[in-house]
Amino acid sequence: HSQLRQRSAERRVETHPLTWRLREDGAVLGLEEYVEKDGYAAVREVLSHRSPDDVVTTMKEANVRGRGGAGFSAGMKWSLTMTGPNIPRGYLVCNADEMEPGTFKDRLLLEQQPHLLIEGMILGAYANHSRFGYIFLRGEYVEAARVLSRALEEAREAGWLGRHVAGSDFDFDIALHTGAGRYICGEETALINSLEGLRANPRAKPPFPGQSGAWGKPTVVNNVETLCNAPAVMRHGAEWYQALSGELSDDGGTKLYGVSGKVARAGLWELPIGTTGRELLERAGGMRDGRALKAWLPGGGSTGFLLPEHLDHPLDFDTIGELGSRLGTGLMTVVNEDQSVLSLVRNLEQFFARESCGWCTPCRDGLPWTVKLLQALERGEGEPGDLEMLDKLADDLGPGQTFCAHAPGAAMPLQSALKHFREEFERGVATPPRAASAAEPMPAG
Ligand code: NAD
Repeated sequence: HSQLRQRSAERRVETHPLTWRLREDGAVLGLEEYVEKDGYAAVREVLSHRSPDDVVTTMKEANVRGRGGAGFSAGMKWSLTMTGPNIPRGYLVCNADEMEPGTFKDRLLLEQQPHLLIEGMILGAYANHSRFGYIFLRGEYVEAARVLSRALEEAREAGWLGRHVAGSDFDFDIALHTGAGRYICGEETALINSLEGLRANPRAKPPFPGQSGAWGKPTVVNNVETLCNAPAVMRHGAEWYQALSGELSDDGGTKLYGVSGKVARAGLWELPIGTTGRELLERAGGMRDGRALKAWLPGGGSTGFLLPEHLDHPLDFDTIGELGSRLGTGLMTVVNEDQSVLSLVRNLEQFFARESCGWCTPCRDGLPWTVKLLQALERGEGEPGDLEMLDKLADDLGPGQTFCAHAPGAAMPLQSALKHFREEFERGVATPPRAASAAEPMPAG
């Protein structure tokens, strides 16, 4: 029995690069235990034997796709950083401003395995010639802030941070910066402004942060989970990482997938990328109270609704994109037959309207207007033409109309709900139509 347990533990090392070290009681993995379990081995190996370019190439070959939600190749991002003898050294920033509705994956890594993130950041900084890093942490993640502060101290004392990291020529340190609880701070250029002490308005891209970021210097912004993949990729190689998903997907590696909403047991699991929505639903114990599945969001509030018939598709970036939604953070929100999609969308749009920075007109004015229309439909007081107006608003909020992805993200659940659940919206149109005098004025911007 114990041999079997040992073998299954060994297999976990190979198949669960993000979570195999985690303790069953959920306690923080301190430095000593982390090092005992192969921790910082990748840093030691890379700093003594490999060049920054070699690290970038391995990351590229492994095709680690950004786990913040957009799925941009992390290796590609690292290869596009402006570096050179006459260019001032830049920064590596970890985006830990996890605020996507229904998303709670980075929190697990931050609260239980802070050294994995620190190790990933050292590797990222080395590859990008950075000498300083920031962890931009969601303000409400108070426990993570406590755990990270302690871990940063431990790492400094043990020589993993500071001058001559692990006895090498490489110097690197990290500061922890806690945000003030705004969703827009998670957008990388707004995050950079916030870090600089400015108002968190997104900046126009290009230039991408890799060319000109914090204080005008080359800055790489990576999500927590993305950085946490780097140590295993360096330790075991690009081929091994690619093979983790087997036949399930062309994307490599594992993913922290999760489920919440009307299921029996909400949860979070590390699984090969390309696992299906059906498997996640089964892991969550199926639907709560035996109610039927009506719809699901694959990865947070800024993704499009999918239907029960989409449950058998692999949850990877390209496949979910082809279905007209996006993988986003990979944490499913499950909706049952008793719920109103119209009300859910109104709730989400209210959130997006509140969290808009107000810089671009379609976002600043379009979102409150959308909320007003949805509220009227919810009360059964919608007017003829409201659905067409919502269609138009969803288009106007879409890609290319604003500086950042906030408005296009808000458009996704709206557009997909109008497509899949149009009759719910139609039922909200009053018959006979309301008198003209009762119509509400367009909200002020
Ligand atoms: P994006 O597609 O514009 O960019 C993704 C990343 O790739 C960025 O770092 C960007 O700089 C980089 N990039 C893209 N094109 C590039 C190029 N040509 N050269 C160099 N770098 C390039 O998406 P985004 O606005 O950064 O993020 C949107 C995503 O964020 C959505 O998919 C959403 O799911 C997700 N999101 C996540 C959270 C969360 O809490 N994790 C919150 C809100 C939104």
